[in-house]
Amino acid sequence: MIKYLKECDAQTLEDVPFCVIGSGAAGITMAVELARAGKRVLLLEAGDWKDDSSLDDAYEGEATSPHPEAAEYRRQRFGGTTHLWGGRCVPLDKLDLDIRPHVPYSGWPITYDEMSQYYPSAMDYCDAGQADFELTALGSNPDPMFDEFPSLYPEITECVERYSLPTDFARKFQTEISESKLLTVLLRARCTALNTNEDGSNIESITLSNGTEQWQVRAKQFILCGGGFETTRLLLMAQQQCAAWQRFDASLGRFYTCHFDVIFGDLKFKGSLPKFDFEKTSDGVYARRKLNFSADYQLQNQLLNSTFRLHFPPYGNPAHGSGVLSFIYLAKSILAREHQDILNHGRGLTDEEQNKLLHIKNVLLGFPSMLRFGYDWLFKMKLAKRRLPYTLIANANGSYPLEFNSEQIPSAENRIELVSQHDSFSMPRIAVKWQLTDTDIESGVKSFELLQAALNKTNHCRLDFDSGLLREQMSGALPVGGHHMGTTKMGHSDKDSVVNSDCQVHGVDNLYVASSSVFPTSGHANPTLTIIALVLRLSDHLLSKDVT
Ligand SMILES: Cc1cc2nc3c(=O)[nH]c(=O)nc-3n(C[C@H](O)[C@H](O)[C@H](O)COP(=O)(O)OP(=O)(O)OC[C@H]3O[C@@H](n4cnc5c(N)ncnc54)[C@H](O)[C@@H]3O)c2cc1C
Repeated sequence: MIKYLKECDAQTLEDVPFCVIGSGAAGITMAVELARAGKRVLLLEAGDWKDDSSLDDAYEGEATSPHPEAAEYRRQRFGGTTHLWGGRCVPLDKLDLDIRPHVPYSGWPITYDEMSQYYPSAMDYCDAGQADFELTALGSNPDPMFDEFPSLYPEITECVERYSLPTDFARKFQTEISESKLLTVLLRARCTALNTNEDGSNIESITLSNGTEQWQVRAKQFILCGGGFETTRLLLMAQQQCAAWQRFDASLGRFYTCHFDVIFGDLKFKGSLPKFDFEKTSDGVYARRKLNFSADYQLQNQLLNSTFRLHFPPYGNPAHGSGVLSFIYLAKSILAREHQDILNHGRGLTDEEQNKLLHIKNVLLGFPSMLRFGYDWLFKMKLAKRRLPYTLIANANGSYPLEFNSEQIPSAENRIELVSQHDSFSMPRIAVKWQLTDTDIESGVKSFELLQAALNKTNHCRLDFDSGLLREQMSGALPVGGHHMGTTKMGHSDKDSVVNSDCQVHGVDNLYVASSSVFPTSGHANPTLTIIALVLRLSDHLLSKDVT
């Protein structure tokens, strides 16, 4: 059943076995899993069926440049940010959960096997096929990305990332949830406070608001699924009210990490061109190839975990010579701001790039490719259930910029704090403090240099870049929007972490966190698949407690 908070009777809010706060990928998966196992669940969502600009104020806050605005890259609506996500599904690597001597605070309190067993079901939730990310997912004997790739083995490897439909969790689960007798979703039901008992060992109730009235919910178990920022914000607010929670000072809100991204260099090939486009896996899912350094090579060279993809030129610069990219640039107003940033490599446009006449020329000269694009856009992107993830157009000059995507080391200085201003729900706003560390920059520089050395030993490919510019580019790398990790991290004790290996807040018997905010380190993988795997693991844990 799905209804508004204001329509609900008092009984719905009393004696609830499981109360899930937030209905994004994490919250919907959690609620659906528990209800399928026969449990009664209350799922609370601050937003409405669709985006509503009157709620935007609640996500506003401060953010240090170049971090995106606090409200960007997340949505308040039933289904959360899955309405907007790109659907790239990537698992963590085994070494991401290990203690790595060169990565401070590395090491998860769970093993890779304990978590990765949940990836296949998480892939089902995302409609992304099998949890198989080897090249052989593309067929029994696939050619390498380019002829000489095998000469780079074993230090540099090739694997695939898979793409979801992309699945909008609200749309996918709406019917099941509406028809469920066990699952109640309340819209416009914002949790504005977690109310602890005196010693902070239990959440006695939470406060809900729809902006005009307030309600209390009492539940046996509360699971925070509000996304990385909101989950952290609610816990920081509770900490201000509860002396015993000062024990989380060293970790709560701290160690904020994003992936960082640089598009740089020119990879050129003599002879046959590399595999650049999306391909379909044997089980019919869009996939793309990428290059990684092996675990041993990362350890030997003290590298952070990263990945490289062949990339398209920035669409705003008409020098790419592509009618299609120019057309997208001219039509950019139809794209969400977050998607515009991604297409233009995360930077603003120069005057030259804004020269619309050059773009119009590209469009006119590129008419045949426009027809092909129009066909793909209509039939593969708009009308298809499984959508082509995005448009890949190679540079007209045959060179490929490299997209580099890396983890950053956890740093206590990167953090989310509460500030003195309040939003319209009387909740303190957040300030996001983010910067790259020297270690992040050095690792990025070294990764490019090592890749260049390896590629330039081959006969047919060459990676060129201005080495004087590399460090500058890396220092100006941008955080990938929407990957909000580390601020309620998982660990062994409340001295250095917020939740334990079951995602339970240390020392609080009925409060759990299901979010990328629990990741102690992030690898280079986009977070959602791992969020869902952790939710499924947490759901098994909660079901084992036999709560009714
Ligand atoms: C443009 C873009 C592209 C992306 N692409 C990818 C990708 O390709 N691959 C990938 O893995 N990830 C991607 N992401 C990230 C992905 O969207 C998030 O990892 C994922 O949505 C997080 O899920 P969540 O459930 O934790 O949070 P959200 O999806 O943000 O959901 C949280 C929900 O909780 C609600 N809520 C918040 N606070 C409260 C409260 N106090 N009370 C009640 N409800 C509350 C919100 O309204 C929201 O509906 C992308 C993000 C963006 C913006």
